[in-house]
Amino acid sequence: MEKKNNEHCKVDSWKIGELIMDSGLKYAQPSTQTGRTDVNSLTNWNVPLVWEGTFDPLVIDDIYKKMDPRVAVVVFAVGKYTRFLKKFIETGEKYFLVGFRVTYYIHTDRANEVPKVELGKGRNITIVTVPSATRWQDVVLGRMKWATLTIEKTINKEADYLFMMDIDSVFHNRFGAESLSRLSAVLHRGYYKNTPRDSFPYERRPLSKAYISAGEGDYYYTAAVWGGYLEDMYKLVKYCYEMSEEDAKNKIEAVWQEESHLNRYLLYNKPTKVLSPEYLWSDYDKVPGDIKVVRISQLVKNYAEVRPNGGQ
Ligand code: UDP
Repeated sequence: MEKKNNEHCKVDSWKIGELIMDSGLKYAQPSTQTGRTDVNSLTNWNVPLVWEGTFDPLVIDDIYKKMDPRVAVVVFAVGKYTRFLKKFIETGEKYFLVGFRVTYYIHTDRANEVPKVELGKGRNITIVTVPSATRWQDVVLGRMKWATLTIEKTINKEADYLFMMDIDSVFHNRFGAESLSRLSAVLHRGYYKNTPRDSFPYERRPLSKAYISAGEGDYYYTAAVWGGYLEDMYKLVKYCYEMSEEDAKNKIEAVWQEESHLNRYLLYNKPTKVLSPEYLWSDYDKVPGDIKVVRISQLVKNYAEVRPNGGQ
């Protein structure tokens, strides 16, 4: 990937480790004694596990707005999935990094079905045309290839952070700068509580590049929302693409496509922030007590109707 010109990269020029806040900001005094006690808010490699109540939006926003980063959101709406675009973008405008510069890179085979949505200041849509597919698995895995290409061609010069997101979801509450870090991954809602690591749906066949052996593993992460610095995300998206190509050569497809490769990568290259399942819930599931805020929720959908080859 081309080296970025520092003049265009606010994050680099601010040196991201420097957490600079404005003087005179009014906010509640942080405590060393009280906080969330019902959940763990630190991983065993000592990075934050982010839940509602573990950050102050006023402080976080003030720090990150000074950096004024450009954020790319890469989404795919291939075939009938264009129907999810409107709600996703409309609610994204209400809740996703409000006040920050955001561009939605919409990859689709139906550019004419991309809705006109009123966007906030500094927010844009870029449409990228991709081919149609006959198998949903090809769209899901193909995302890694197309995202790699789009990053190399355009996003590379246009963003400091990048998020990969599923399109069949709706924002319901703040998804803010507390989610930003070098590599941020979201705990899968299905496996975050009391699931022994050997029951995680990791790829268990040694032939696949996504293989994780029994007795290994920290968490199970979802591939429906993940993000980080552009450089780190580029490396990871390309890794998922290349590993799935290797698997294809060996006539194997990882059990949960790129999610399996993502989980293997993150086991050995630890994320710098772990986001709680608040950052991706699902309308299929009841919201338990420890999820105080649902920030995004996946929609219930008729798989047979919406996918080109049906099925789950
Ligand atoms: N997708 C798409 N067209 C398809 C299948 C999938 O655009 O025919 C994209 C879309 O962005 C979707 C993502 O791939 O959100 C993941 O697929 P899906 O939602 O079907 O997977 P699930 O999360 O339901 O397993």
